Amino acid sequence: MRIVIDGGHSGSPDPGAVNARTGLQEADVALLVSKLVESQLLAAGHEVKLTRTEWEQAETDDLSYRTSLANDWGADIFVSIHCNSAASPSAAGYEVWTSPGDTPGDVLATCIYKQIAAEFPDRVGRPDYSDGDPDKESRFYVLVHTDAPACLVEMAFISNDEEAALLSDAAWQERYARAIVRGVTDYAALKTNAE
Ligand SMILES: [Zn+2]
Repeated sequence: MRIVIDGGHSGSPDPGAVNARTGLQEADVALLVSKLVESQLLAAGHEVKLTRTEWEQAETDDLSYRTSLANDWGADIFVSIHCNSAASPSAAGYEVWTSPGDTPGDVLATCIYKQIAAEFPDRVGRPDYSDGDPDKESRFYVLVHTDAPACLVEMAFISNDEEAALLSDAAWQERYARAIVRGVTDYAALKTNAE
């Protein structure tokens, strides 16, 4: 499988969400986790491209750079990695997003959501089961403009001090990457069995 991992935001000038107390930046965490996902997927025998490989990459401010990278390569799977943020410091938990409607991205998102839930039973999931599966839906640019099945993972709330501490922990990042990778490989196995 050809898999594109999209670390959200671009560092400078767009750090994404920032923890008010520690200054931890979403773009930093997203890049670190996307690199961990890359190395684990490579070890599992997949082909992988990252949309971001460095802290500052101005061209990635243009989201069409990210989707073109996936579309031009003929990616089979696209996963965007983010940290959530809210005005309420107590907001917590993980979400997986897809574009609206019933798409192959829903199947991918369900595989990843289930693996995050299995790895982190102590964290709260924020699902939307109104259409029968746990993903939330929105017309996020990278989800709408990617040809491959795509989803976006909001790992945890960087605005929540407890979750920000987890997001900055190397061992927790490694576990999170492993959960995402298991979800991706579950999806890849479904696809392979269906062919
Ligand atoms: Zn983000």
